[in-house]
Amino acid sequence: MNILERYHAMDYGPAPEARNEADAWLAAREFSKALFIGGDWKAASGGKTFDTSEPSSGKLLAKVSDAGSADIDAAVLAAAKALPKWSASSGYQRAKVLYAIGRAMQRHQRLFAVLETIDNGKPIRESRDIDVPLAIRHFIHHAGWAQALDKDFPGHKGVGVVGQIIPWNFPLLMLAWKIAPALAAGCTVVLKPAEFTPLTAILFAEICERAGVPKGVVNIVQGGPEAGAAIVNHPGIQKIAFTGSSEVGKIIRKATAGSGKKISLELGGKSAFVVFEDADLDSAVEGLVDGIWFNQGQVCCAGSRLLVQEGIADAFIAKVKTRMSRLRVGSPLDKNTDIGPLVDSTQLDRVRGLLADGAKQGAVCWQPDAALPSSGYYHLPTLATGVSPANILAQEEVFGPVLATMTFRNTEEAIELANNTRYGLAASVWSENVNLALHVAPQLKAGVVWVNGTNMFDAACGFGGYRESGFGREGGREGMFEYLSAKLPLGPAVKPAPVSAQPVEQAGGDAIDRTAKLFIGGKQVRPDGNYSMAVATAKGKLAGEVGLGNRKDIRDAVAAARACKSWPEATAYNRSQVLYYLAENLSGRADEFAARLTQLTGATAKAAREEVELSIERLFLYAGLADKFEGRVHQPPARAVTLALHEPVGVVGIVAPDSAPLLGLISLVAPALAMGDTVVAVPSERHPLLATDLYQVIEYSDVPAGAINIVTGRSAELAGVLAKHDDVDGLWVFADAEACAKAEADSIGNLKRVWTGNGRSLDWASDEAAGDAFLRRAVEVKNVWVPYGD
Ligand code: NAD
Repeated sequence: MNILERYHAMDYGPAPEARNEADAWLAAREFSKALFIGGDWKAASGGKTFDTSEPSSGKLLAKVSDAGSADIDAAVLAAAKALPKWSASSGYQRAKVLYAIGRAMQRHQRLFAVLETIDNGKPIRESRDIDVPLAIRHFIHHAGWAQALDKDFPGHKGVGVVGQIIPWNFPLLMLAWKIAPALAAGCTVVLKPAEFTPLTAILFAEICERAGVPKGVVNIVQGGPEAGAAIVNHPGIQKIAFTGSSEVGKIIRKATAGSGKKISLELGGKSAFVVFEDADLDSAVEGLVDGIWFNQGQVCCAGSRLLVQEGIADAFIAKVKTRMSRLRVGSPLDKNTDIGPLVDSTQLDRVRGLLADGAKQGAVCWQPDAALPSSGYYHLPTLATGVSPANILAQEEVFGPVLATMTFRNTEEAIELANNTRYGLAASVWSENVNLALHVAPQLKAGVVWVNGTNMFDAACGFGGYRESGFGREGGREGMFEYLSAKLPLGPAVKPAPVSAQPVEQAGGDAIDRTAKLFIGGKQVRPDGNYSMAVATAKGKLAGEVGLGNRKDIRDAVAAARACKSWPEATAYNRSQVLYYLAENLSGRADEFAARLTQLTGATAKAAREEVELSIERLFLYAGLADKFEGRVHQPPARAVTLALHEPVGVVGIVAPDSAPLLGLISLVAPALAMGDTVVAVPSERHPLLATDLYQVIEYSDVPAGAINIVTGRSAELAGVLAKHDDVDGLWVFADAEACAKAEADSIGNLKRVWTGNGRSLDWASDEAAGDAFLRRAVEVKNVWVPYGD
């Protein structure tokens, strides 16, 4: 045997990580008192426990207290009690606590890693080298945000008591992503880990005790969906931060509708891994291994759909199979292991079931010839080829070590296939041509895009999804906003529109009778139902009629808004000029609009003039900001830059208020337009003539057809249609409380981003009713990671 043959014949010896310290910790702890509430360790008030077991063997690890609603009440109370002092403490004081947590975690780094691996089944290399160091980085990074708060987020303060619910796939890391920004913002928290993986959160609570976290600032309650639901529904909580499945995310969106709770949802994904023919194939194979087999594929942003260009598909798949044959499946505590067990038998059953369904639908499933350990929830890495875009393996999140493969011919087809999913969490693009990669990245509907890389994360860079992958970002500046609120100039409660007696008497004057139509796709069109709605003057006389829009009109308007590609693709400078032109043309007709305001609302001539002037000023403001509200470049501690791009949300529905009917409408439409969104606006129900008078201004201002669509009619009804429409990406509703709540509850089909005034009116004339707070809602932040160096 020569040296080369010997080298190839060599096998790995076992390299187990020692577990004695973790076993000693497990033996010493009283898990029936595992609720960390107000700084004390408590048993569940009902005495209930649940089992947590070791995925590599199925053996019981601990019986952990299972919180009931009384325990959640106690935890929320403790957090509320701790809130005033914590939120009033200086940024420096909070920074010291966050830093102390990070340092204490560093001292117990190995114990955290081993416990995580024992409880979750993930290979020790991953928990030791990725999960735990990243979790620590989050605390240390956010210490800085605590001190930078006043300077970087003027006018903002912590939202209050936060309920946080996390999944089992990255138990400690998700905890860190949740708790670090909350504490930096001055919030207090009630966090519930997933029922499969409670252990590292218990160790973390011990760290909090030692690091001097004031009692009640961090409360950790263990339990399952009922405990989660009790948190979600608790009236003492001001914000819910959830990471988990899209299914539960939707339940939470619905449950919190109308409650005024701020929510962020980090949900599932079906991310594309796109390999162009000019990619470095060997690097792409290594990337793919990390993309789909990291943590056994139980990763929200797993690159579970391989899209490979036709010309290289066979060669690439052959390389992938060779590499798969070398993946080592085995004990997660072995440092050589690439693939450990899945978290639980239920997860294993789910993966097997989805694979069987995929095969029935035509997928050809290939696995390397490898033996599985005799016990534990192991599953071989699996490659599915012959997958049609509609196959369940191409559409459903498997959350296991299963890669679905498809091919594409050209760039357009790659983008179309990549976006053919209801999710939008992440994507990887592989090409040695940086122009191509950076041409494709912005066209992918995903919150994170990695160029020639995968699974890059950092505390300074936002992470989060588009579409049904949820909303909100975790990490960095964007992540901080999720735990802060700015004071909006709220006014009194909005009253529902009265079912008024129809005014019949003409308002007088000798104008020709005119019924305003709807404005859809750049044209004035008759409403589908051919009904109109009478509009009254302030004195109750007939001012005119407008079209009574219905479901079909909204659908047409959404289709027109979606079809308008030229607006989102226009340069910011172009959009800016159009908005300036709108302002100019409105200004040319200022007298007429002021007179109309007086006629409809009874405003004095002076007040009406002020509203028109302010509307023009707002258009000017957003025209100016169109090319200034830009993204950022992050420099994470890796050889990469992260471009945090501001992209339009998409089609945004706007239900404008009755109060300040011109200014309110313009204050909402202008920021959306400035950021490249296309708009379907439902103007004030009571005073819609101000919007219909705008048609001509819009027509003369070079606004492309479909960028602004206006459907007059019953606000609450049309808001409901917009909320249920799955091609609307964002919805802003300033109407009565019931309409706002309904818009939130009905938005779950595609998890559109809903922003409401919660039934309160705004002082539209105030400075706070303009600027960044509005622009932020008009964009999605996409983080594009671009590595550099050899
Ligand atoms: P899950 O939705 O079943 O559970 C997540 C958490 O929610 C658990 O703590 C669970 O106890 C709790 N829960 C369940 N039902 C609830 C209810 N009705 N009300 C309140 N809480 C409830 O998800 P999972 O199986 O634990 O985790 C896997 C999912 O998490 C995958 O879909 C994955 O993509 C997603 N995930 C997303 C991200 C991200 O950042 N986007 C990160 C990790 C995981």
